[in-house]
Amino acid sequence: MSKITIAIDGYSSCGKSTLAKALAAHLGYAYADSGAMYRCVTLYAFKKGVIKDGSFLPEEIIKLLNEIKLGFEFNPITKSSDTFLNGENVEKEIRQMFVSETVSKISAIHEVRVHMIAIQRDLGKNKGIVMDGRDIGTNVFPNAELKLFMTADTDIRTQRRFDELTFKGQHVSFGEVRLNLIQRDHEDTHRKENPLIQASDAILLDNSDLSRDQQLEYVVNLIHKLSAYSQNK
Ligand code: C5P
Repeated sequence: MSKITIAIDGYSSCGKSTLAKALAAHLGYAYADSGAMYRCVTLYAFKKGVIKDGSFLPEEIIKLLNEIKLGFEFNPITKSSDTFLNGENVEKEIRQMFVSETVSKISAIHEVRVHMIAIQRDLGKNKGIVMDGRDIGTNVFPNAELKLFMTADTDIRTQRRFDELTFKGQHVSFGEVRLNLIQRDHEDTHRKENPLIQASDAILLDNSDLSRDQQLEYVVNLIHKLSAYSQNK
């Protein structure tokens, strides 16, 4: 089958990136984490002092957009892609709680979305890409051949994110992580522009009780079916 575009959307911390990375590695496709891009804008705005006590003026954020150069590089040690902001590896920094607590407000700014979506479309222009986020199947790649919409039980998602952050040495409480997921989901599903919703042609995947291998196997089977279907057309 010729290369396709795979869009993975869904709620916060339900394993979208984990599945997307595994799928990209399995298929020999590129992987792009669109959430990391919004996180970079947020981190940069913090570094520039434009966000103070969680508050900011949207026009100040918009002014920064042209100063931001994003890059993704494969890290042979972690076997995953690291995010670079103006040449600096910020993979760890963009996952910190202060970024998580503000990113949904930054991602709701119209100009920020327009800027990021242009970069995302450019990354996917030759297909052969797995991109995860909130509006990939509905807005960034509405013609993606395979769209998944992921969800999982809130406590299971919280536990996964809590384990990930504490493993990375961050001092967070279970309650703080849970609240952040709920708040981000609320902001992401209720914003005016490109809110998080399941695309009408997306396949719902609730991975509450599925291992990573089971999820990969399930999606690889879907791709085989898609390939058989397109060959018989
Ligand atoms: O995927 P991740 O949790 O890192 O995304 C961080 C935030 O970036 C989301 O909560 C959402 O506000 C924003 N985002 C978005 N559109 C995307 C991807 C992420 O608005 N396509």
